[in-house]
Amino acid sequence: MSVLEVKELTKSYAGTLAVDHVSFALEEGTATALIGPNGSGKTTTLSMIAGLLKETEGTIHKDFKSGVGFLPQYPQFFSWLSALEFIEMAAKISGVESKNIRQQSIRTLEFVGLGAAVNKKTGAFSGGMRQRLGLAQAIVHQPILLLLDEPVSALDPTGRREIMDLLKSLQKDTTILYSTHILNDAEEMTDQLLFLKQGKLVEHGSLAEVKNRYAEPKIQIRFESEQAAAAFQSRVLWPMDRTRNLIDLPLT
Ligand code: ADP
Repeated sequence: MSVLEVKELTKSYAGTLAVDHVSFALEEGTATALIGPNGSGKTTTLSMIAGLLKETEGTIHKDFKSGVGFLPQYPQFFSWLSALEFIEMAAKISGVESKNIRQQSIRTLEFVGLGAAVNKKTGAFSGGMRQRLGLAQAIVHQPILLLLDEPVSALDPTGRREIMDLLKSLQKDTTILYSTHILNDAEEMTDQLLFLKQGKLVEHGSLAEVKNRYAEPKIQIRFESEQAAAAFQSRVLWPMDRTRNLIDLPLT
């Protein structure tokens, strides 16, 4: 079942086409990477799905009630609020029932590793703590679809590892769309790829399928006869295509 279906999503900023007729669907329970270089339209796409942008074209069909959770690339908080005050506010805005707000907020803060900082002012939070708090804000209402915009790009290696492990533990209950410009992160976190290039969706498929299409470049040596190729191949043991007398020369 599709949790999200977008058709012909399009957005221009003052004449610049940032997202260009993008269509795709996400199946329930999948983790998908929205991958592409800086400026390819990832943030714009996620913001449209999260309902944060005006003057967009296309349709977004979300087949669920409990809404979307969105972790922006640079989450913003009110520096004078404590972590708990901020998350309770987020829970209220996201429609969590009043009687559950306190308990659900504390549980979420504990889940993201901020159990000891619930009363600390968010203005005093480090980069890693801000990312955890941003995640808490995105999941406090237990959304079925979670949008993550470059969630670990700004973190040091330890912070990256910790946040990635947290995100992995969310995968079993949540459909995830994860934007990144780093293929390794996409590979670790997801099994499907959406590849954006200058606002256009140029690839959509499983990691294996897409990687196959971008297989490493190789040099091939063609021999005049199969015997000549086989004689050479017996010495180097490199892969050989017998039907065309080709031997692949490994480049790495
Ligand atoms: P990514 O997240 O992949 O880095 P963005 O969605 O942020 O890409 O940007 C896509 C394109 O839209 C870029 O050319 C960027 O300069 C432009 N853009 C993004 N936000 C704005 C904005 N608020 N005003 C004008 N142009 C923007």
